[in-house]
This record gives sequence, C-alpha cells and structure tokens, in this order.
Amino acid sequence: MPIQILADDVVARIAAGEAVERPASAVKELIENAIDAGATSVHIETSGGGRRLLRVSDNGSGIRREEIELAFKRHATSKLRSAEELEALNTLGFRGEALSSLAAVSKATVVTRHRDEAMGLRFASGAGINRCQPIGAPAGTVVAVENLFYNTPARLKFLKNDATEKRHIHWVVARYAMAYPGIAFVLVQDGRERFHSSGSGQLADVVAKAFGLREYNCMVAVEGQERAGNGRVAIGIRGFTSNLTLSRARRDRIILFVNGRAIQDSSLTHAVIQAYDGLLKERSFPLAVLLITTPPDFVDVNVHPTKAEIRFRDSQQVFLAVQRAVREAILKKADGETVDDLWSASGFTDQYIQYKPLPPPWQRESGTALVDEQGLQYAPDLAEPSARPRTLPILRVVGQVGAAYIVAEGPAGLYLVDQNAAHERVIYQQFTEDHAQGRISSQVQAETQTVLLSPEDAQLLESVGDQLAALGIEIELFGPNAFACRSLPEAAAGLQLDELLTRMLEQLRGAEPQLENVIKALAGAVAVRSGQIMTPDEMRSLITRLERCPNPLSSPSGRRVLIHLSSEQLADQFRIR
Ligand code: ADP
Ligand code: MG
Repeated sequence: MPIQILADDVVARIAAGEAVERPASAVKELIENAIDAGATSVHIETSGGGRRLLRVSDNGSGIRREEIELAFKRHATSKLRSAEELEALNTLGFRGEALSSLAAVSKATVVTRHRDEAMGLRFASGAGINRCQPIGAPAGTVVAVENLFYNTPARLKFLKNDATEKRHIHWVVARYAMAYPGIAFVLVQDGRERFHSSGSGQLADVVAKAFGLREYNCMVAVEGQERAGNGRVAIGIRGFTSNLTLSRARRDRIILFVNGRAIQDSSLTHAVIQAYDGLLKERSFPLAVLLITTPPDFVDVNVHPTKAEIRFRDSQQVFLAVQRAVREAILKKADGETVDDLWSASGFTDQYIQYKPLPPPWQRESGTALVDEQGLQYAPDLAEPSARPRTLPILRVVGQVGAAYIVAEGPAGLYLVDQNAAHERVIYQQFTEDHAQGRISSQVQAETQTVLLSPEDAQLLESVGDQLAALGIEIELFGPNAFACRSLPEAAAGLQLDELLTRMLEQLRGAEPQLENVIKALAGAVAVRSGQIMTPDEMRSLITRLERCPNPLSSPSGRRVLIHLSSEQLADQFRIR
C-alpha cells in the first residue's frame, strides 16, 4: 500500500481510542468538563454498562451558542492558549479532545444553555453531520452519549461485561465525589440510584458513602504539609487511610488525587503501603484516599493519553511526604498505645483466635457430633468422598507443623501439605461436582442474617446473585445496600454472613462474574485458615479428599498445595559427603 494521509474520520476514531478507552473513561471526561465549568451538582445516568447510554448533566456555566460547534472540533478548548500555560493549569481539561473523540465513536448530543444567554440549544453530532436547534433549558449542560464504540468493533470487543463496566463507572464517580466533596454527585445505573454525595463539603461524609460506613469507621484522618526551601508550601496532603484492622487483598483501593486529578502512580501507592511496613499481614494492602496538592508548576500533567499519570518535579519529596503523613496518621491513632497494642489491634497476632469458633466446614456434614478439648463441635467424617480416581498415593498423616501444614508420609517419601490451599481445592472440587450433578443442598438458617455492604460491594453482590443462588446462598435485597440471607450451603453453615461475604467479594473484585470464579471465591472464603489447629481426624479427612481431586497439586487460586520430598532426596540429605 502506498503511503497516504489518513482521512479525518479515521484519525478521529484512532485518537478517540486514546482518550476514551471504555465507558468509564467517557464518564471521567464528562465529569471533568462539568467540574471545569464550575458545577455544584453533577448527575450521571447510564444504561447497559454505559454502552447504550451515558448522560452527564451539570449546572455549570453552559456553552455559548457560537461556541458549541467548535467545542466538538479536535483540539478545541477554552482552557489553554499557549504551551506556557500548561505550567499553570487550574482546569482538569486542556487538550480539547474529549467531545470530539466521543462524537467520533458514538451518537453524541448536547443540550446546553450558557448562564448569560436566554435560550438554550440542542446540538447533535455523529457520522459527520451536526444539527443545532434552539431549545428551552436550565443553565448548564447535558451531554448524552449513545451507542458508544458502535463503529469501533475492536474496542467494543475489548470491553468487559456490563457488571464490570458498571463497577468501573461507579468508582470513577465515587473517586471524583471524594476529590470534590463540595459538589453533589448522583449516579443512576439502569434506573437505580447507585451513589450520591450531598455536596456538603465534608470529605468524611463522602468517604463513608464511597467506601461504606463500616470501612470508614476503620479509617483515620491524614493531614500533612511539606515546605519548600523558600518556606512556600510545596505539598499538602489530606484524606483518610485505613487503621490496622482493615485491609484488602489488592492495592486498588489506594486512591490518589493530585490537584483534583485522579492519578495512578505506582510509586506513590507504594509510599502508602510502605507507611504500613511491618504492621499489616503479608499481601494485605491498606485502603486510602489522599488528596495531594502542589503548586501547578511542580507537576507535569501532560504525559499520558487519559491524563491518568503525571510527573512530579521532585518525586522523591512527594514520596516521602506521603509516606510520612500516612505513617503519622496510623501511629497517632494509637497515641499512648505500645507497638504491641498496635499489633494486636491489627488482628495480626490473634486473628486465628478470633476465627477459631468456626468448626472446619468439611467436618460439619454428617456423623456424630463430638466436643473436642477446645470445646468445639466436630463431626468427623472419615468416609471416602466418592469413587473418583486416585490422583495422589495413599498418604498417612503424621502431624501438623506451624498450625499451617500437614505432614504426611507416602510410598514415595514425605509430603508437606498447605492446609488452607488443600482445603480450597477440596471445596472447589466438591461444589463444582455437586453443581454439575444438581446436588447442591442448602440449609435454611435458623436466624435470618442481614448485612450492610458498601455501595460498590452491594453492586458486586447483585451481579453474582444468580451464581450464589445456584450454590445454595440465597440472598435478598433488604434495603439500600442491605441484604438478608435465609439459606447457606452446608459447607458454609455456621459462618457469619458478613465474614463470608466480605471474604468472597474481596476475591470477586475485578473477576468476571462466572460461576467458576464464584465457586473459587466461596472455596477461598470457607476454607480452613492457616494458623488453625486441626485434629488428626480432620487432617485425615482432608487428605483423603485431596487424594481424589483431579488437580491436587494447586489450589483453584493457583497456590501450591504440597511439597514432596522423595525418599532419595531425604537419604541424600543425610548422606556423609
Ligand atoms: P477540554 O476539556 O480539554 O477543553 P473537551 O473536548 O472536553 O476539551 O471540551 C471542549 C470544550 O467544550 C471545553 O474547553 C469547554 O469550553 C466546553 N465544554 C465541554 N463540556 C462542557 C460543560 N459540561 N460545561 C461547559 N463547557 C463545556
Ligand atoms: Mg474535557
């Protein structure tokens, strides 16, 4: 093919792919426009995960009649005139790309009335045709984006299911609501209100709404300032960060804003995590929302297509400032307490004691209930689980080490089995088989348990409601973000509902809501923890079941289940060299 200049509409679609990756990034751009326009109220409505419709309404300045057509042109912006002004930006937008990009990949309509004008107008853009007509409208702007990516099939294919896109949109709104507590945000998805903030100006109110009240109650305020050599405030930090009783298995709830702009910065995220050094369990991460401010010329915001990354003039200084402010906040909370108190408050040392009242689920199936020396009810079940083929040799349980590993002996040597990973595998196998054979049996709970979730978790839970029901977990909506559970599968009977759901949702975040993933999450939630002392009968029962799992060597989440030391390896270790 000879070299040729691309047609404008092709260029527009390519450029659109950079600024608008998915429905949530369109929402981000439109929210940023509303904020730049001085809105105090922003209403976001979506349907079909944002693909069918995205509508963002604001009560900001509105767009002047003579400027509306221009607003949809590429690189048309009211926010920047010269390259020098990039150093002193006080708006979120500056490239003039969002509206033109959206119009290139959707049917976009704007209804707007500038606050100085008497009459509003409606402007429709799409497929190269623009139509403009006068219309009565309140001051402000409504941008509607329909059929996003209809003409870029590759982009459309890349999108996840509706539930995932909805979750992304939800977090874009929640993030901006936290960064702008003085602006009232409302998010309605598929006709249901999913989030709202009052615009009271109180960050704490919005954090409680965004993360959930229970999470907010486990957070402490962060407040910090660093001055530059000339005494000028170089970095301001305020926000909230989790105390030591609250953590997540992923780092994606560390939310950072710089000068009102949502950013991803792995180094600053790491600064937050480092502030917890030694205080959180391994592979646990804090939750945090930090609003960082610096003079505009201390950062370069023009380094990333979606403006999600920025560059600091002195990144080391910002790193240290964030780390210090967060560390101080966690330690100040514990003012007067010793480090030991802190550790036990974190649940790190005695988490297993808290968990202990729960009998191991695989022992709750049948047989005679026994009371062991810890006063726990056990029902040993030594029967072979099924006539599945054997995948491990017959193992003889020797004992338990570190309340975490089962030591077993087999014809080919010594086996160390991770009890938690093994149990996850066994439960996963059982649920998968029982479901395939229509054998899931759930137990109606003596008492209906209720649980209040954060809006985000509530949405996630609803998105897997059918799969949970198929696994014997019947959950009903009970109030806004509140759920009642009437029945649980036998393997989870006796667990506290909020504990079960919190553990499951933690693992389901970011995963596709397929049955397989829900079973994995369920197995992860009910499996015996490391740190729990097991009786010989319990260990034997677990090993017997593991011996007949199709994949006994790894847990469903991919962790190693056992270490095998062959007789030769053992002999070799003892041989005189
Ligand atoms: P940018 O935000 O980078 O300037 P956009 O394509 O997002 O580029 O918007 C182009 C222009 O349209 C903006 O500079 C602004 O003047 C106007 N505009 C867009 N959205 C709004 C809005 N919600 N309220 C008022 N003006 C808007
Ligand atoms: Mg913009």
